[in-house]
Amino acid sequence: MKHRRSIDLVAGHEAIEIDRETLATLPQWYVIHAQCPACRHETMIDRRQLAYRSGKDTTLTKIGPRLKCSSCGNRRGNQLLLGKLPRD
Ligand SMILES: [Zn+2]
Repeated sequence: MKHRRSIDLVAGHEAIEIDRETLATLPQWYVIHAQCPACRHETMIDRRQLAYRSGKDTTLTKIGPRLKCSSCGNRRGNQLLLGKLPRD
């Protein structure tokens, strides 16, 4: 069995309208990453935890500005990146 760990990152506006999608409507096979513009730290965000903290009806565009970089503490311009998990 081939092991696929890679995640294809897609631009937010490409397949998903991030100003309309919420944590509740975003398809299951998407994973959310966040990237800090200050230190380039990138991390995967747990969707369920995010929904718990921000509310599942929060649109994706509103999430970025609320994030704080766990590496340098930056709060400005943190970007959400959507990744697609490989579907079997
Ligand atoms: Zn940072």
